[in-house]
Amino acid sequence: MSQDCVVVCGGGGFIGGHLVAELRAQGVKKIRSVDLKPVSHWYQSFPDVENVQLDLQGKEACEKALEGGGIVYNLAADMGGMGFIENNRALCMLSVLINTHLLMAARKHGAKRFFYASSACVYAADKQRDPKITGLRESDAYPAMPEDGYGWEKLFSERMCRHFREDFGIVTRVARFHNVYGPNGTWFGGREKAPAAICRKVLEAKNSGKHEIEIWGNGEQTRSFMYIDDCLKGIQLILNGDVLEPLNLGSDEQVSINQLVDIVESIAGIKLHRRYKLDAPKGVNGRNSDNELIKKCFGWAPDTKLRVGLEKTYAWIHDEMKAGRYKE
Ligand code: NAD
Repeated sequence: MSQDCVVVCGGGGFIGGHLVAELRAQGVKKIRSVDLKPVSHWYQSFPDVENVQLDLQGKEACEKALEGGGIVYNLAADMGGMGFIENNRALCMLSVLINTHLLMAARKHGAKRFFYASSACVYAADKQRDPKITGLRESDAYPAMPEDGYGWEKLFSERMCRHFREDFGIVTRVARFHNVYGPNGTWFGGREKAPAAICRKVLEAKNSGKHEIEIWGNGEQTRSFMYIDDCLKGIQLILNGDVLEPLNLGSDEQVSINQLVDIVESIAGIKLHRRYKLDAPKGVNGRNSDNELIKKCFGWAPDTKLRVGLEKTYAWIHDEMKAGRYKE
């Protein structure tokens, strides 16, 4: 692998930035990190990495990005938390161009392995009506009824990876991420996800002395949240492994949004009055990862305790805020 150029698409984003940092730490020498945003806006960038700004929705840009690339990670997508994906379905679906053109370029350049970041949003809505859901198995994606817009794009792109593997022999691997969180990710501006948003809101309440917090929905909706370090480990296991079908990559430590707020409040040492915004985007009632398959395949599943990961995330957002790094 050390001889191959490793291309991280979406390297200016949250997970992509961490992946580049991890690959460097593992001693990978030739890394190309590609993102739509100018490099100055990336969460993490490194001088010994080839940092390239390209719009990967275009075919030629993808061909350029994958030139000489042996290993490809596709983490590029136009995405965000529920507030973004429920209100920007067309934009989310346009990410289909990124994966399509990347697969075509991977075929053209003979890429050795291709990783695609799918999502728990592919799971059928009728399997997620109960907040006490036990866990979504990989087979629960069909019959298909995914999250409108974003989820359909993910499911379609999963299928495309499968058919490029079957028909053209590209070694594609797919993980379905369940809510990834950690430092160096989006924490304000409308695309942030629940853990970062709640850390920020708790910090804002603490700093302003106005001890209340707005929660989207009634707070009883359940989710599981995977710390970034687990995500990175899982990505590499899945990419280098021999499991052909998409695998869940998520924690199975299920909490309600109210419980998530409880944990962040306890980290902050504060209790806030809760205002529930019932008409806000809140997604499905219940979602959790079933980890039987990943355990069976790799003898491992994400295991960082939510409290531990949130302490690190909260501390990072605290420092960002203190340094005045609200960018919008
Ligand atoms: P992110 O928004 O931080 O990173 C995505 C990056 O893709 C951004 O930096 C963005 O600028 C870039 N991008 C968007 N359009 C592009 C284009 N046309 N050309 C080049 N780059 C482009 O998001 P993330 O949390 O790091 O997510 C990475 C991947 O994981 C995405 O595919 C996302 O859908 C998937 N995913 C993430 C989560 C999560 O909880 N974070 C959950 C499920 C799936």
